[in-house]
Amino acid sequence: MRNLFAGVTHFQNKTYPQMQPRFEELATGQSPDALFITCSDSRVVPELLTGSDPGELFVIRNAGNIVGTKDEADLGVAATIEYAVKALKVPQIIVCGHARCGAMQGLLNPSAVESLPEVAKWVSLSAEALNDTSDDSDDDRLTQLIQANIRLQLRNLMTFPEVAERVEAGTLQLHGWLYDFVTGKVSVVSLGSSQFVDSVAHMA
Ligand SMILES: [Zn+2]
Repeated sequence: MRNLFAGVTHFQNKTYPQMQPRFEELATGQSPDALFITCSDSRVVPELLTGSDPGELFVIRNAGNIVGTKDEADLGVAATIEYAVKALKVPQIIVCGHARCGAMQGLLNPSAVESLPEVAKWVSLSAEALNDTSDDSDDDRLTQLIQANIRLQLRNLMTFPEVAERVEAGTLQLHGWLYDFVTGKVSVVSLGSSQFVDSVAHMA
């Protein structure tokens, strides 16, 4: 097992001195560019992917980047959304799903999470996304499910009044991202759209 304290020592000796001015500036508060909702998967590193520094991303992570509706959402998710949207007034929320997501695999194949009752219960919040998949090969179905889950969570976000109000007022944008950590590609979907577009095309 890697010694994480060795990493802390490296941070303290090398990284922190370079970033000290930024950390001191952040002592007075934060104004992040986005609420970034993604999976707990260790292969997804939001700051690395988006080139973000401390203070730039407000993050919710859980297995499967699941939000749930206002009524279903767990307290931690609901409170964090409320804080990001009402207190920090983030200008955008990104729901970032990823390729090879174990949580979505568990939703697709319940037998895989038979011995993990809490996981099974949690991913079942996204069961509606299964309706947006077809019966092609399992690999295709998993990708379809990952995409459908991202779209579902964008719809779920709109059940939070504080989110819907700001989206309707034009002060908050919602986007879905699908990140393939193997290829480095990101495709993007907007609220209400079913089409994922390559992030490069999205920028143009
Ligand atoms: Zn995942």
